[in-house]
Amino acid sequence: MRPFTYTTTNATKDALSAFTKTSHYLGGGTNLVDLMKEDVERPDQLIDVTPLEFNKITKNDKGGFTVGAMLSNSDTANNKDIRQNYPLLSMAMLSAATAQIRNMATNGGNLLQRTRCPYFFETSMPCNKRVPGSGCGALKGMNATHAIFGYSQKCIATNPSDMCVALAALGATVEVQQQNSNSRMIDFNDFHRLPENQPEKDNTLNQGELITAIHLNEPAFSDHYYYLKIRERSSYAFALLSVAAGLQIKNGTISKVGLAMGGVAHKPWKLTEAEAFLVGKTASVANFEAAANIAMKSAKPFEANKYKIEMGKKAIVRALTQAYERKN
Ligand SMILES: Cc1cc2nc3c(=O)[nH]c(=O)nc-3n(C[C@H](O)[C@H](O)[C@H](O)COP(=O)(O)OP(=O)(O)OC[C@H]3O[C@@H](n4cnc5c(N)ncnc54)[C@H](O)[C@@H]3O)c2cc1C
Ligand code: SF4
Repeated sequence: MRPFTYTTTNATKDALSAFTKTSHYLGGGTNLVDLMKEDVERPDQLIDVTPLEFNKITKNDKGGFTVGAMLSNSDTANNKDIRQNYPLLSMAMLSAATAQIRNMATNGGNLLQRTRCPYFFETSMPCNKRVPGSGCGALKGMNATHAIFGYSQKCIATNPSDMCVALAALGATVEVQQQNSNSRMIDFNDFHRLPENQPEKDNTLNQGELITAIHLNEPAFSDHYYYLKIRERSSYAFALLSVAAGLQIKNGTISKVGLAMGGVAHKPWKLTEAEAFLVGKTASVANFEAAANIAMKSAKPFEANKYKIEMGKKAIVRALTQAYERKN
């Protein structure tokens, strides 16, 4: 591990002004410190932002709740207001990692956790995300866990977060503070980006911007929700593929849908067409299967991750069925 300085403050303006182009903000460190140990991330300065004031859950003016970025994943997932109003978010967050990691991990850090592509972690291998222009080891290498949607020839990695899949299904806005202390709002679906020609950029943040809050839309899907995570073992494992499903049902008809997948793209993959298809339909396996076919029709797998097509369809049907049956 290379030498670095550690700065801590409880004044937001000091954290913002301390940031330089070789700094990193530090949340729980559960991703960043691992990457520093592997020599993948090489900051000169860590600015610990966990003492900052953004550690509460409050009601917001959209009729929803605002979740502080410095709050831990455990305190968020187990919060009474989140469990009651956004159980889909709580369920997705509790499926992640282990209790110990969720106790350390912050919401801001969760949004910015980096891909688990093995070539990204292995500094002797080519990886455009780690070293732009060095090539993509996964493209013709081991790509069983990689993307089937939205990738480019520069990078086929996936976003590993469970929390972010639920946020994509629910809809949210991320609030950030710029270095001049002005705030900026980013629609959650615009927060993460596709790799295109710049796979080193995971998101649309500008240098030095600090995530302060996640604004959740008005409560949704508290009766019919399910987060299905398919993984190789039941803890300490990232999703091979996941589905966040939320349904609102009125008089036997679906009136609102939130549907997103994880483990399939460089960003949480919102299934907009499948959502639109389901609105106004009855909640039936036939309609869920039709939605799954719509969702997966543009998938382009590699040899080793072809399994994600069939698995994806079945996972969508199962998540929607579980969501529907939860209160029926
Ligand atoms: C063994 C293991 C298993 C795991 N399994 C899962 C899993 O199954 N599902 C899952 O979703 N996750 C999993 N994780 C990942 C875990 O959820 C993340 O490591 C965690 O959420 C990151 O949060 P953090 O606060 O520790 O971030 P840090 O490691 O502190 O930071 C991550 C990044 O965010 C930046 N950052 C942090 N806070 C802010 C802020 N407020 N504003 C701007 N930048 C900021 C940092 O500079 C850094 O670049 C696992 C991790 C481990 C180690
Ligand atoms: S998929 Fe992306 S992260 Fe993985 S080796 Fe290729 S460029 Fe690197």
